[in-house]
Amino acid sequence: MSKYWSEFVHHLEPYVPGEQPKMDKLVKLNTNEHPLGPSPKVIEAIRAEADDRLRLYPDPDSGLLKQAIADYYSGKGHGIKRSQVFVGNGSDEVLAHLFMGFFRQDEPLLFPDITYSFYKVYCGLYQIDYDAVPLDETLSINVEDYLRPNGGIIFPNPNAPTGKLMPLSDIERLLQANTESLMVIDEAYIDFSGNKKGGGDTAISLVNRYPNLLVTQTLSKSRSLAGLRIGLAVGDEALIDGLNRIKDSFNSYPLDRLAIAAGVAAFEDQQWFEKGCDQVISQRDWLKEQLSQRGFESLPSAANFLFTHHPQHRGASLAQGLREQGIIVRHFGKPERIADYLRITVGTAEQNQALINALDTLL
Ligand SMILES: *Cc1c(COP(=O)(O)O)cnc(C)c1O
Repeated sequence: MSKYWSEFVHHLEPYVPGEQPKMDKLVKLNTNEHPLGPSPKVIEAIRAEADDRLRLYPDPDSGLLKQAIADYYSGKGHGIKRSQVFVGNGSDEVLAHLFMGFFRQDEPLLFPDITYSFYKVYCGLYQIDYDAVPLDETLSINVEDYLRPNGGIIFPNPNAPTGKLMPLSDIERLLQANTESLMVIDEAYIDFSGNKKGGGDTAISLVNRYPNLLVTQTLSKSRSLAGLRIGLAVGDEALIDGLNRIKDSFNSYPLDRLAIAAGVAAFEDQQWFEKGCDQVISQRDWLKEQLSQRGFESLPSAANFLFTHHPQHRGASLAQGLREQGIIVRHFGKPERIADYLRITVGTAEQNQALINALDTLL
C-alpha cells in the first residue's frame, strides 16, 4: 500500500491465479494446462521467426493469425472471414476489452454465481453492475434464469470450474430470446467437449446468424500454449470493429512476432491437435472412473479437468493431503456449495496414476 495509490487502486480486488510453483518435481494439476508440450511445428515456427526481424514491430493486426483462424473455422463449414476474428494477449485480454467496451450498460451484466472468477474482477475494474445468477441444484446453468432485461450475458461453455456443457440448442434458445444485448460464450475448454478429435460443438457455428454473439477461445488449453498468451474472439464484423477500436486505444501490438508465427502453426497442425484432445479425453474418462471406484462423485466433464468431491472427506483436507505428497490441485473453498469440491486438471497417464496412488494413501 502507498499514499501514492489512488482510491481506485486501494479498492481493487484482483484475480488470484492458480499457483505456478518454482519446484519442478510437483505434479501440477491445478491450472488446466495441457499435459503434453505444444506441437513441434509450433516450436519450429518460433525458431524460424527468431532473427533480426525482432528489431521491427509486429503486424498490429496479426493478419496471418486471423487468416489462419478464419481458414480453420471455414474448413469446418462455419464460413468465417478474417474480418470476423479478433486476437489478443491471452483470452483474458480479449475478455477485458469486451467488458470495458460492451458491458458498461444501464442494466446489470448476467453471469453464473459459480464460474470463471475473472468476470467479477473485470466488473470491479471497469465498474460494471452485475447479477451473479445461481446455478441450479445440479450445478447447471439454467437458460430460463437469463430471460430478463440485462446489459449483457457471459458464461464459459463448458462452464468452469464445473466442466458442465450447455448444448448448442440451449445457447441458440437464449440467443433467440435475448436479442437486445451482447452474449459472450467463453469457449476456453470447448475443444475437449466433443468426440476425441477435438473441436466440440462450438458456438462459432452460430455467429453468422446472431449479430449479438461473440465467442472467445484460447490457445492456452487445447493447443498447449499457455506460456505464449494467445486468445481470440469470433463474431459479427461490427463487434470485431468495436474490439479493434478498444485494442487500438490500449496497445497496438498485443501479439508479438513469435506468438503470431506460433499461433498460425498451431492452427495448421490438425494432427497434433487431434491427438492431444484424444489423449486428454481418454485420460479424463479413466480418471473419472478411478475416482468413482474410490467413492468420489464427479460432475460430467466436457473439459480437461474434473470437478469432484468425496462425501466422507473435506475438500480442504484432501487438497492439503495431496500437496504433502507433491500433487497440487485447485480447491476454491468458496462459495459454501462447492467448498468440498476439488478441480483436478487431467494430466498425463503417469500424473493421473500418481494422483490416484496419493489418494489411496489418504482415504
Ligand atoms: C483459462 C481460461 C481463460 C483464459 O485463458 P488465457 O487465454 O490463458 O488468458 C478464460 N476463460 C476461462 C473460463 C478459462 O478457464
